[in-house]
Amino acid sequence: MQDILALLTPADRLEISSGLGFALLLARYAHKAKAKLVIDAEEYKYQAGVHLFAVMLSEHVTAQLATTEPLVYNTHQMYLRDSMPVLDMHIRNQYKLGVKLVRGAYLDSEDPDVLCESYEKTNEQYNAAIKLCSDRNIHTIVATHNHDSIKIATSLENPRISYAQLLGMADDISHYLAHHGQQVYKYIPYGSVQDVVPYLVRRAHENKAMTKRAKAERKRYLDEFIRRVKGQVCPTRIDFPVRGNGV
Ligand SMILES: Cc1cc2nc3c(=O)[nH]c(=O)nc-3n(C[C@H](O)[C@H](O)[C@H](O)COP(=O)(O)OP(=O)(O)OC[C@H]3O[C@@H](n4cnc5c(N)ncnc54)[C@H](O)[C@@H]3O)c2cc1C
Repeated sequence: MQDILALLTPADRLEISSGLGFALLLARYAHKAKAKLVIDAEEYKYQAGVHLFAVMLSEHVTAQLATTEPLVYNTHQMYLRDSMPVLDMHIRNQYKLGVKLVRGAYLDSEDPDVLCESYEKTNEQYNAAIKLCSDRNIHTIVATHNHDSIKIATSLENPRISYAQLLGMADDISHYLAHHGQQVYKYIPYGSVQDVVPYLVRRAHENKAMTKRAKAERKRYLDEFIRRVKGQVCPTRIDFPVRGNGV
């Protein structure tokens, strides 16, 4: 972090400090509302700056607000080759940050040199990251629609793990987890057309990649519809058990 700070010009520092001021304001609102502030991950070229910003923000938040649990979460993209050492460094330095784990959304536009060589390798890193965070007792949001990863996360039975899915995607999984007392966040796109359209295009691409899963998902939606019509209590069972209080 010191290395990056040394590279900043006075204008960079000014820009960061005004951004920090605004983010701190958001953090105060989040604190009052008992909400979390989750910083998304962007393209690789921005990530060193985003990580730095997240660390600086969490230090200010810890100093200024009486928080017992992390209020700020930083996102790690596990499709990056260097993601495990970066995550490990963040954990070892005991930054007061929660972790949000994603695979990564910019597969088509990133330089292949910074990416894992295959989908399987990304999966391996993602699942290893879940276990690492759980072992170190880090507050972690497992942000994925991937069954295998969610199955691994639920099997760890760590109350510091929560889940997140995008609205309109894997809603059956979100519902199932929430029903079993897990903390689940749904991401809702909000913003100007200019900001939201590129986001929706990326989601459309992902949905194309998910067609293999779509058939099984459609079946679960139908089962869920029938269950609701019949007024049954427990949601349609998915292929992983979740221990917890049904709510
Ligand atoms: C709640 C939530 C928040 C998110 N926030 C962010 C964010 O802040 N920043 C961000 O970048 N993304 C974000 N994403 C998107 C995320 O990174 C994935 O693109 C998306 O969730 C699909 O991956 P998956 O884990 O659901 O599972 P899957 O559908 O099983 O995995 C697909 C992903 O695997 C990876 N992959 C596929 N093929 C290859 C290959 N050949 N080589 C290497 N890797 C490959 C890619 O990352 C691809 O998106 C978010 C997703 C969710 C659910």
